[in-house]
Amino acid sequence: MAIKDRIEEIRKNLQGSKAQLVAVSKYHPASAIQEAYDTAGQRVFGESHALELRDKHEALPKDIEWHFIGHLQTNKIKYIAPYVALIHSVDSLNLLAEIDKHAKKCGRIIDCLLEVHIAEEETKYGFSMSDVRSLYAENKIKPLENVRVVGLMGMATATDDETQIKEEFHTLSSFFVEAKSSFAPEFETLSMGMSGDYMIAAAEGSTLVRVGSYIFGNRVY
Ligand SMILES: *Cc1c(COP(=O)(O)O)cnc(C)c1O
Repeated sequence: MAIKDRIEEIRKNLQGSKAQLVAVSKYHPASAIQEAYDTAGQRVFGESHALELRDKHEALPKDIEWHFIGHLQTNKIKYIAPYVALIHSVDSLNLLAEIDKHAKKCGRIIDCLLEVHIAEEETKYGFSMSDVRSLYAENKIKPLENVRVVGLMGMATATDDETQIKEEFHTLSSFFVEAKSSFAPEFETLSMGMSGDYMIAAAEGSTLVRVGSYIFGNRVY
């Protein structure tokens, strides 16, 4: 199936939900992104390496909305700060503070999501739900004037057990609703769902699904 047909199929599957598609183009060449842009009118793309994103941003049309979805090292923020539209993967307060500094230098306010771990796998990255509550209770977010934390991102366990995936997304979605109603009224974005589970995520209230391999195939380089 062509890239265009894959994207149109996903959009159709997302109809009736709140979710929009972020086409994850990491490891795929600029030509594949250009094809999605030209043939399917896709404008929102996600990348997980800062230098790869910088190179693609330079090579491709300037009306693309670039999202960063991978682990971001503080020494790489400078490559994406001038133009990135949303950073999904803020996994420490230190990183958020560094993004804030770079955003200030660029005269920008950068939208960010806090990455929350919901999967059973051990991970070095991301916040627990109680970490997020503490950040707000201790007023750590508001003083950072050049970032706007607009919601949460999460990844389900890599498993075929759809019940488990659904429960994990449900947990994050419930927490998102709680946060919005009790301490973060500005929350508007809930990023969850990938190639294998985006329909479950959309049914559980995702507003952004991040789909890569289903659109572009497995990594090219
Ligand atoms: C690679 C990646 C995706 C896309 O995964 P696919 O399974 O290829 O759709 C989504 N989110 C993050 C954080 C990723 O690193």
